[in-house]
Amino acid sequence: MAATAPYDVDRVRRDFPILKRIVRNGKRLVYLDSAATSQKPQCVIDAISRYYSEDNANVHRGVHHLSQRATDLYEDARHKINSFLGTMVGCETIFTRGATEAINLVAHGFGKGFVNAGDEVLISHMEHHSNIVPWQMLCEARGAKLRVIPINDDGELIMEEFDRLLNGRTKMVSVTHVSNALGTVNPVAEICRKAREAGARVLIDGAQSAPHMPIDMKAIGADFFVAAGHKMCGPTGVGVLYGRAELLDRMPPWQGGGDMILSVTFEKTTYAHIPARFEAGTPPIAEVIGLGEAADYLTKLGMDRVAAHEHDLMVYGTEQLKQVPGLTIVGNAKEKAGAISFTMDCAHPHDIGQILDDEGIAVRAGHHCAQPVMQRYGVAATARASFGLYNTRAEIDALVAGLHKVREIFA
Ligand code: PMP
Repeated sequence: MAATAPYDVDRVRRDFPILKRIVRNGKRLVYLDSAATSQKPQCVIDAISRYYSEDNANVHRGVHHLSQRATDLYEDARHKINSFLGTMVGCETIFTRGATEAINLVAHGFGKGFVNAGDEVLISHMEHHSNIVPWQMLCEARGAKLRVIPINDDGELIMEEFDRLLNGRTKMVSVTHVSNALGTVNPVAEICRKAREAGARVLIDGAQSAPHMPIDMKAIGADFFVAAGHKMCGPTGVGVLYGRAELLDRMPPWQGGGDMILSVTFEKTTYAHIPARFEAGTPPIAEVIGLGEAADYLTKLGMDRVAAHEHDLMVYGTEQLKQVPGLTIVGNAKEKAGAISFTMDCAHPHDIGQILDDEGIAVRAGHHCAQPVMQRYGVAATARASFGLYNTRAEIDALVAGLHKVREIFA
């Protein structure tokens, strides 16, 4: 589909073989769990399969034809991700095993290099556990203090509190671009600008934004940005860390091993330059190649058109869900993307998930790896319907019909 043509969701759906699958009771899959992981288009599946059947070899090591070919494909994927993210000169893209590993890499490397006793790390109340625990571990190890930007009842960051918490001791601000539990889109460019003025560095967790909207690193202005391959139509086992080279250069290595060195003797090892310095061992080659293909696929669809399509689903879905008696949406931020969390007065989220599953509808029920968000709203869990570029209004209608069934059974 040319990026200028109208968005044809039926055509997009044909790219995803799994969407034809019958899952239960003769019901066709209605996949509303893309925040957990997205489905994969045929071109990504083919790229992985092609690599294994035609090009499989280790990268950066051999002089033989296949090794050079695998290395070219691997490095091509880096270019594809760079153009997808709109990265800048003076920045580098590092492949990790996931968004979680990318955050841990920064917490470890930046923490060791730059965070000392008495310093502060600022996160928000709506973070995924992957953007809480690594910083907590760092603060514990370095004698630093973890501080938390509170959120309001609608699930938005309280920016006055952010201003108040940001101070000369803040070494790192690490916040999510889009909340996986609430769907809130945060004002990341403003956060980066203010943090920079205060002399702090910023990591933006883009695990839930990169699949849903155009990402322009120049406009965001973050020092570090992370993304999860499997949430953006790519395979599992691969993630992205984008960062400013001047910082990455000064961070100690994350893991030691092959490929991350210049020379090794028993007395002393010298390290390779970035990105190799942070890509120790055999990387997830097939996964990186698959992710490059996914980035190309998304770029061809046009992320602005994907965002517009999903915005329509968000508006329509919110309107429709609000009409289900006894249903409460958790997270009513003005800017939302990707996910709608909710509870029902008649049923536990797990029961909602179970009844919907009988209808072939996949949603998630639980704390979504964001227990502090659950604590903030006084619930143990929510049900969450999350969208991808292949979802339709008809699938939201199916969800609503399923929720009426939940009411019939439990109310
Ligand atoms: N951050 C956010 C906001 C997420 O939603 C997730 C995954 N649910 C992660 C980080 C971690 O991603 P992964 O488990 O793929 O490493």
